[in-house]
Amino acid sequence: MNQTPPVDFAHQDPRLSVEFFPPKSEKAAEQLLQTADALKALKPDFASITYGAGGSTRSRTLEYARRLQDMGYHIMPHLTCVGHARQELKNIIAEFKAAGVNQIMALRGDPPIEATDYVPHPDGLRYANELVSLIQQDFPECTIAVAGYPEKHPQAPDLDTDLKNLKRKVEAGASFITTQLFFDNSVYFNFVERCRAIDIQIPILPGLLTLTSLEQAQRFCSLCEAHLPHKLQHMLDQAGEDPTALEAVGLDWIYLQARELLQNHAPGLHLYLLNRSSIAIQLVQRLKADGLLP
Ligand SMILES: Cc1cc2nc3c(=O)[nH]c(=O)nc-3n(C[C@H](O)[C@H](O)[C@H](O)COP(=O)(O)OP(=O)(O)OC[C@H]3O[C@@H](n4cnc5c(N)ncnc54)[C@H](O)[C@@H]3O)c2cc1C
Repeated sequence: MNQTPPVDFAHQDPRLSVEFFPPKSEKAAEQLLQTADALKALKPDFASITYGAGGSTRSRTLEYARRLQDMGYHIMPHLTCVGHARQELKNIIAEFKAAGVNQIMALRGDPPIEATDYVPHPDGLRYANELVSLIQQDFPECTIAVAGYPEKHPQAPDLDTDLKNLKRKVEAGASFITTQLFFDNSVYFNFVERCRAIDIQIPILPGLLTLTSLEQAQRFCSLCEAHLPHKLQHMLDQAGEDPTALEAVGLDWIYLQARELLQNHAPGLHLYLLNRSSIAIQLVQRLKADGLLP
């Protein structure tokens, strides 16, 4: 297995990362592998792979981390605390390490759908900062990323409190932050400014969704409490059920967002792909043509 080099933000060029989720069916697996194959040409700096709730995800995340690594991707698997005892988390970290992974996205995770509150395993961890510390302890050479929420985490009472908690993850050893998706760049710029004001100095990689329908945009916005701009809502509405028109709206919106972010020195882009390649490929081609991506 290839050893994954850690993400290097010291480099001048903006970084590009793409996010996959482990498929649950043969058909979905085929789509993921086709997407991964098509996206290889874009030469992303790394690909992250999510970690869902429940037991089977552990093996699926690791299985697809390995498969993507074999395709030449530098992999950053996600890991959540949900349902895991401390020792189990240590075992998973050891498995990642043995697989040649040396970067992990450390998350608390969400409660299972049937539950409302996050309840830690009796021998487990309450917050992501504790997971960052655990990884640091067992795997000090690992690059650790953490999640940041420009529009605040839904459970946080306000952005100030959430930022103080984000700082705990940074002080525990996180090397960079990937943000929750957003559709309005002003929330990202404000977030970065507020982070810098409390001395969070690590790179903050903006997360953008490759959007293909109004229903999808509304679902994501309601899940993560992100603001859906009226203009975008209107444009998706106008596109109706026409997949070509919807893709054009999604592409134009993410392109304008990405262009402004890179022109204003964002350290790169993280694309929430939903395992689809079309918008990502066209986006990166446009940004390369503009000289905004190498
Ligand atoms: C880039 C990204 C990738 C993601 N990938 C996945 C994935 O693969 N799988 C998945 O299930 N979910 C994923 N999520 C969703 C994430 O798991 C949820 O948003 C979850 O509710 C919070 O995880 P966290 O790591 O941000 O938690 P934390 O940083 O622990 O924060 C959770 C809440 O607790 C508060 N808090 C944090 N630390 C403390 C503390 N020490 N004391 C008191 N309060 C505290 C925070 O303000 C926040 O409200 C991802 C989110 C993002 C942005």
